[in-house]
Amino acid sequence: MPTVSRPVRPARRTQNIRYAVRDVLALAEEAKAAGRELLHLNVGDPNIFDFAPCEALVEATVAAIRSNRNGYAPSSGIPEAVAAITEEAHRGGIRNIHHVAVTSGASEAIELALAALADPGDNVLVPSPGYPLYTAVLAKLDVAGRGYHLDESNHWMPDPEEIRGMIDERTRALVLINPNNPTGCQCDEATLRRVLELCIEHDIVLFSDEIYDKLVFDGRTHICSASLAPEAKVITFNGLSKSYVVPGFRMGWGIVSGPEGEMEAFCEAMGKMERARLSANHPEQYAIPAVLGKADEHIAGVVAKMQARRDLTVERLNAMPGISCVPPQGAFYAFPRIDLGVSDEEFCRRVIREHGVIIVPGSGFGQVAGTHHFRVVFLPPEDVLNRAYDAIEAVARSYAGH
Ligand code: PLP
Repeated sequence: MPTVSRPVRPARRTQNIRYAVRDVLALAEEAKAAGRELLHLNVGDPNIFDFAPCEALVEATVAAIRSNRNGYAPSSGIPEAVAAITEEAHRGGIRNIHHVAVTSGASEAIELALAALADPGDNVLVPSPGYPLYTAVLAKLDVAGRGYHLDESNHWMPDPEEIRGMIDERTRALVLINPNNPTGCQCDEATLRRVLELCIEHDIVLFSDEIYDKLVFDGRTHICSASLAPEAKVITFNGLSKSYVVPGFRMGWGIVSGPEGEMEAFCEAMGKMERARLSANHPEQYAIPAVLGKADEHIAGVVAKMQARRDLTVERLNAMPGISCVPPQGAFYAFPRIDLGVSDEEFCRRVIREHGVIIVPGSGFGQVAGTHHFRVVFLPPEDVLNRAYDAIEAVARSYAGH
């Protein structure tokens, strides 16, 4: 038995976990200590700005707490929530549903599904740029995350031919984030169909992350991946966090769909993972039937506000020297490119340190080697965005002048 006391050694798996969105906070603390006001353009949390959830959702949750629905819920979710999610999926054209899991945010559904699907040594194809949760969870599971590029010259769309070349016999799943975080790209139907064909051809599961499905601009409509190909094996992820403006409720879900007779073992494995963590938050689950399919007006208001901020963002960024921004078609992020002979880390460091405007370097989401980007969250009101863009422009000009 060792008798020497040493610092606790963390597990090696934690070495590969990065979470750029929150990693910039140390720099922000420095800026704050230097007396700067912080402008948060880093976290996708609508509630810290002028967005609030609709009343029906709050009432349903408070009523559930008051009537003491405060115990554990069934592991896969309360029947009312599962039924509402199933109906919503049917409205989106998803038919062959085998399992619905209500989880603590879409994040937990993603984590449970990856854990139920992939073994160490397997690999999963993830979009690059993409939301860093996927690579963080894969690192925990010792499963390789292979980044496939999104094409900036084609509205950040995936390239099915590149994806085809990356699939091997250990590829278990392909992640598609649609609309995408951080680019705001909405995948067009033709590309979606080609991605689904690839999944069918190589018998891999499509993880279709549709958490921003209702937040699309310019009158666009969303297409559920699973609705296009009933023979594809798809897990569709969604939740209340973004469209219904309650990320703190931690209410999300996963919907498993696919051909008859081929999904049972996986659903049983998912069920085991769900039971092992007891249940998702209970009272908040009552919000799900209270809003799904019933909050069109609320969503329209949220989208109108976001679209005005998207327009301002694209106009301001594209007017800056050395900065170019592909207009986001959905979600509330923009992923502008920096062509100023400076790295994205250094650019962001200066914007944060010198101006207190918190933006996240593109390297935290994945980008083609040699290119530089940053992500902005365009949720703040226009006056805050304008102040933030003034600061970003000042830093861009300082490089462009040389
Ligand atoms: N998927 C994507 C693409 C996201 O951007 C986010 C949050 O930012 C999530 C999932 C997590 O959502 P939830 O709050 O439901 O866990």
